[in-house]
Amino acid sequence: MGGGRWFGEKVVWPVEVGGLGIRKIRLFNQALLGKWLWRFGNEVTHLWRQVIASKYGEASGGWCTRVVRGTHGCGMWKNIRKGVESFFGHVLYAAGEGFRIRFWYDPWSSPTALKDLYPAMFAITMDKSAMISDMVDYAPNGGGRSWNLRFRRAFQDWETGIFYDFFAHISSKLPRGGDDTMIWQLNRSGVFDVRSFYFSLLAAQSVSFPWKSIWCVKVPKRVAFFLWTAARGGILTIDNLVKKDLPLVNWCCLCRCEEETVDHLLIHCKYAHTLWSEVLRLFGVQWVMPKNVVSLLSAWWNWLGSHTSNVWNMVPACLMWLIWKEHNARTFEETERLVDCVKSLLLRTLFEWSRIWGFTHCHSLFNFLNSVSLSF
Ligand SMILES: [Zn+2]
Repeated sequence: MGGGRWFGEKVVWPVEVGGLGIRKIRLFNQALLGKWLWRFGNEVTHLWRQVIASKYGEASGGWCTRVVRGTHGCGMWKNIRKGVESFFGHVLYAAGEGFRIRFWYDPWSSPTALKDLYPAMFAITMDKSAMISDMVDYAPNGGGRSWNLRFRRAFQDWETGIFYDFFAHISSKLPRGGDDTMIWQLNRSGVFDVRSFYFSLLAAQSVSFPWKSIWCVKVPKRVAFFLWTAARGGILTIDNLVKKDLPLVNWCCLCRCEEETVDHLLIHCKYAHTLWSEVLRLFGVQWVMPKNVVSLLSAWWNWLGSHTSNVWNMVPACLMWLIWKEHNARTFEETERLVDCVKSLLLRTLFEWSRIWGFTHCHSLFNFLNSVSLSF
């Protein structure tokens, strides 16, 4: 059997997604150290935490220490502190009194910080780095709380929609009292666990930009450029056109039942799915479709082993290119082809490209398809 496919990166994935469950020691160690970041943020009154905090100083809100500089002291905390960025990327804050949470900068009302969710509001706020507690008014005699936000100027007509949206978003999120806490977003309990952190570190490492699947695949250059643009989310699907303020109804032109995004069009659309299934059936491979184009390209590359993947590696470029051509024909020329027609075009194109690059010696499509199915 093509043993190569089981070696290399894939063995560190959990068994349920096709790996052998062997842990990467460095990442696992980082995940273990995450436990200490979690405890530092939450165990405010504990002695060990106070010792560390007085030695290195606290960063805003006291969720972590400042950056550890110099070589003095024990290297242990320095090591733990290194994992801060990936750790806090999965933390959401729950506002008690809001003394420790920055209103605009910290993610608390949603996984995205308010400054990124409402940049127009952020641009004209008076108190960019204020804590949530600074933004709350308390009615006398234990009455209710309300938001007290100050802006540098009155709103323009065109801003009122954003303004209402913003206030609708925060109106139900007034701090309720008690301690501010962290919520771990990678599991349902909201409490940090090493396992979920480890797998997120692993996923982040595996999905680096898949340049080999784009530039080392033998396909026409214009197709490689298209694939590169698609991987960067830059092809002009309707969602991207809407972002450029074009007033369009977002409706996928292939399946006509869901919104058109790059990942929908090229991977998840029913139309695309039929083509992917056909190819996987041809190669006799079981495959769970990843969420987006980048993950797909990363996982696809050399999946059958580095010596037997020549034709296989062409598939994403070829299939996505044909979908894109069909998309453009429907959008600009108002012609459309049934999926079966594109399916046979896909197989013919794979055959032609394989002949050009010398990956097959077969003279007929029929023999080529047989040779592909039989070799795995
Ligand atoms: Zn669709």
